[in-house]
Amino acid sequence: MTAHFDTHVAVADPLIADALRHEKSRQQDQIELIASENIVSRAVLDALGHEMTNKTLEGYPGNRFHGGGKFVDIVEQAAIDRAKQLFGCDYANVQPHSGSQANLAVFFLLLKPGDKVLSLDLAAGGHLSHGLKANLSGRWFEPHHYGVDATSEVINYDDLETQAAKIRPKLIIAGGSAYPREIDFERMGQIAEKVGAWFHVDMAHIAGLVAGGVHDSPFPHADIVTCTTTKTLRGPRGGLILTNNEDWFKRLQSAVFPGVQGSIHTQVLAAKAICLGEALTGEFKDYAAQVKTNARALAQTLQTRGIRIVSSGTDTHIVLLDLSSKGLTGKQAEVILERANITANKNAIPNDSPRPPEWVGLRLGTGAATTRGMKEPEFAILGEMIADLVEAEAAGDSTETVTRCKAQVSGLCAAFPVYL
Ligand SMILES: *Cc1c(COP(=O)(O)O)cnc(C)c1O
Repeated sequence: MTAHFDTHVAVADPLIADALRHEKSRQQDQIELIASENIVSRAVLDALGHEMTNKTLEGYPGNRFHGGGKFVDIVEQAAIDRAKQLFGCDYANVQPHSGSQANLAVFFLLLKPGDKVLSLDLAAGGHLSHGLKANLSGRWFEPHHYGVDATSEVINYDDLETQAAKIRPKLIIAGGSAYPREIDFERMGQIAEKVGAWFHVDMAHIAGLVAGGVHDSPFPHADIVTCTTTKTLRGPRGGLILTNNEDWFKRLQSAVFPGVQGSIHTQVLAAKAICLGEALTGEFKDYAAQVKTNARALAQTLQTRGIRIVSSGTDTHIVLLDLSSKGLTGKQAEVILERANITANKNAIPNDSPRPPEWVGLRLGTGAATTRGMKEPEFAILGEMIADLVEAEAAGDSTETVTRCKAQVSGLCAAFPVYL
């Protein structure tokens, strides 16, 4: 695979070959703490560059609109069977091109324009596809948001119940992209049932933790579940939709195709099937447990160094920092970390400024570095480095600290290669 890119792309397109080569080195030379990223297996990579990409196919296994789909059928059926087994549900649609696309198909299935949706506030860790005004979901439906408790910074389910009873939404969505705590799916399912709403769990970030058995499963509490195959599930860029509702499932199939998508990304389907197969192994269970253990180690180190952790800890792969405790913005922290080859992203925290440049949050995630083999000692080192960099930047002189941390990161990167 490596040889393939180094030779064919280099000959055909030097500009792109160069960018690809640099991106590969960047991944090897930086420590990735962006919570939505991971490192896929060689097998997943191979499938993504496979000739199966040449195949155009619409419809579902056994009911296609084009000929020549015999082998894609095998792949899609395997992906469906594995997704059902992995997440313990009856029906799976494995075709969504992305997590946002999966959500769109769910809205297309369950909602009419103007319907009320109740989802986690973006500032409390929600996702833009759950009703942001700039997103179709916020423009075509009527979004309402629940937040987190002002003191504990975790979801207050009693408040959520009161709010849901008042709003009477058609759909309640659980899940987000910067919520570090375990979500009580059972309780949310009860609230949805009580107020007559459908309950949709978007487990994009935590799908790998659910698969690995270290986060509570949305089934049997959710009516419908979406996720990405990226992030903690450690697969290709793409989405899944899962449900136990047989009546819905038939309509869901048409909500995905031809509702919001056309032909399948056939090669991605193969990569999804591989990643789902990997997630069924005992090795993946160990990985998921380590992701969580590492996040705790990272949070503890940072907390000991006086950096405030939103919600005072984590139950997932996410550690959300409040840099106002050190007098920096999230952006400033992001920049200083990147100078030392540690990548992370600025993020809003509960009650943050509406303006991204003023956000004081920095989101860290342990999925990718755990795939490289890093464990608690390495995450403690990372935590110390992050605290050192943030403190040096706040003190106005970070040059020496950056040089030292960069060397330390370089040592870690060499000891834990992205691909062996
Ligand atoms: C990442 C994410 C998505 C979107 O996935 P894309 O594949 O980037 O479209 C949707 N929902 C949540 C909660 C996410 O974290």
